Amino acid sequence: MIDEQYIDIAIEISKKANHPYGAIVVKDGKIIGRSDDNTLLENSMYSHAELIAIESASNNKNLYGDLKGATMYVSCEPCMMCMGAILYEEFSKIVYAATLQDSNNNYCPEVITDIDVLAKYANNKIEIVKELHRDKAIEVLKRA
Ligand SMILES: [Zn+2]
Repeated sequence: MIDEQYIDIAIEISKKANHPYGAIVVKDGKIIGRSDDNTLLENSMYSHAELIAIESASNNKNLYGDLKGATMYVSCEPCMMCMGAILYEEFSKIVYAATLQDSNNNYCPEVITDIDVLAKYANNKIEIVKELHRDKAIEVLKRA
């Protein structure tokens, strides 16, 4: 599958979520984590889609860097909390749809950050694909 197909899966998950966000973790061409797995308490305001997907994917929860080589596909640009987790796990790539500003404008208040600045703290090189199928994700935010 290609980025466009994976991001659509994350957006599909966002349509059915309690809060309109969805994420999947893909490694070696396989989906190994999904935010609809609900491994964290759903009703915590800090159980963001990316963190649930990481928990779902992580084989060894005591060791950072488990997800080296993996890609995070997420319906909205990661916030600074989730970027922290993504960097600790040494993801190689992030693909997101809506921006934090879109989320702020259409769903709930956000702390707007610059993902390129946050990515500078990565120990490894991280590729970022921005605003892929952004319009689809904005529609989900608007309808929520
Ligand atoms: Zn977040």
